[in-house]
Amino acid sequence: MPIRANHDTKIWCDICKMRYGKVGAEWHTRAMTPARWIVISETKERRGRTKAYCQPCANECQIDGQGKVWTFREQLDYALGREQLDGMEPERL
Ligand SMILES: [Zn+2]
Repeated sequence: MPIRANHDTKIWCDICKMRYGKVGAEWHTRAMTPARWIVISETKERRGRTKAYCQPCANECQIDGQGKVWTFREQLDYALGREQLDGMEPERL
């Protein structure tokens, strides 16, 4: 299952952690936002790696450059499709 709900408050949103980071040796309070969703990668290079998102960050990350909704599922399919294309010999296309 590539996306699952998270109920562990000790798992924080990776986007918030990146965005707010640490203040001195301590995490910024907003960096400690509990994750609502865990997305598990299925691509070859990143298989099994997880990324945690709070709800606002999950919403933000599911909007494409044109402001349209681009779900994690669709992004994953795209990434997997790209991976197959990248691995294909040009003469076989
Ligand atoms: Zn977040």
